[in-house]
Amino acid sequence: MSSILFLMLLLLFAFLSLHKYAYNFEKTNIEFSAITKINSTINSSTKEFNTSNRDSSVSEIDFIKNTLIPSIKEEVSNPLKIRDAVIIITLSRTKKMVAASANVKDNEWEKTLITSKFSLFTNQKSTCYTCHYYIPDIRVIVVSRLKGEMAITILLILIFLSFFIFIIRRWIYSHKASLLKDDFFQNITHELKTPIATTSIATDIFKKFEFNLPVEKTKEYINIITEENRKMKQIVDRLLSISIVDNSAAKMSVSEVNINDLLQHITKNLHFVVTEKGGTIEEHYNAKDAMIIGDQSFITMIFTNLLDNAIKYSPKAPKITINTNSNDKGVTISIADNGIGIPDEALTKIFYKTYRIKNGHNIKGFGLGLYFVKQLVEIHKGKITVNSTVGKGSEFNVFLPFNIKK
Ligand code: ADP
Repeated sequence: MSSILFLMLLLLFAFLSLHKYAYNFEKTNIEFSAITKINSTINSSTKEFNTSNRDSSVSEIDFIKNTLIPSIKEEVSNPLKIRDAVIIITLSRTKKMVAASANVKDNEWEKTLITSKFSLFTNQKSTCYTCHYYIPDIRVIVVSRLKGEMAITILLILIFLSFFIFIIRRWIYSHKASLLKDDFFQNITHELKTPIATTSIATDIFKKFEFNLPVEKTKEYINIITEENRKMKQIVDRLLSISIVDNSAAKMSVSEVNINDLLQHITKNLHFVVTEKGGTIEEHYNAKDAMIIGDQSFITMIFTNLLDNAIKYSPKAPKITINTNSNDKGVTISIADNGIGIPDEALTKIFYKTYRIKNGHNIKGFGLGLYFVKQLVEIHKGKITVNSTVGKGSEFNVFLPFNIKK
């Protein structure tokens, strides 16, 4: 964030410096064109006056007012499109104003850089004058001339900035993804290490006693090996599920599935686990029409994952409630628990691949379950939502339409 701010400030600085430079360049350009044109106009006009009117009765002031000033206006202001320029003629020696093309505020015009000196000859004597070319709105003129360039630079800066923000966002996203990946692999390694170590200790004991252990001990160690094997199989199954889920649309095996029956079947095996923890599972199958078209094994995965989580994240006496309801479009299933709950900021993230709530709990997992669940629900053109209160519990709502409309 701070790097974006820094870049924006840098761009703003570059933009301002560039425009200051462009502004000064354009201003000098205008002044230079004006002075060149003024000099040539004064030259040609005074040449005529000095040669033909040397003895004439046309006074210098009349010449300045009626000939010189109008021709400067005509030859300089019009081609340069400087409508508000004021031409002021002063006596060079005393700086006294002799004539002006319009009224000017105080002596503001004296600061102008566009000045040109000339001399007029009458009756054998010469008088030196200074012509001041004052442009009151030079800023407006320069800015209006640079309008196009300014628009282009602003556009380029905006394009550059959006591109930069896009790159930064991609970088942040891939950085986060790689952190999640690291976390995920650390988790898996950690989870696999324990069963591998335990089974290897158990087999070592068998070898040490040359397979002559008492029956009770043998049973105990075989049970340990079987249990640890089951855990490893579970991990491998989860990992395999990644590829199943990522290519599932093509591999769906569709049939009629009764959601009420399926849930009853899944829950049958879980009652024992929950009762062991001192908890209960309440089932309310209110869906009148619970028959949908879908993939039975995928739908089983959805509810097994949700129910596993409900038990796993309710460390003290889980109280799980299953509800089904139906309307004219499909079946809604809700699975509620009285577990640790999910903080608001994690409610959408829990469905990301390998996302796990950090520091919230130390319950083991890979952050894949809910990712699978969401993908599988979406394959069925359904929807999953979650409500949760930290410390009180969570409720996952799954809607599955009767038919998978493509
Ligand atoms: P895992 O359970 O393997 O970490 P999941 O994808 O199933 O992966 O869940 C992601 C995260 O969502 C979990 O780490 C947990 O913090 C949170 N979570 C999921 N279900 C529940 C639940 N019923 N109650 C509280 N937290 C949950």
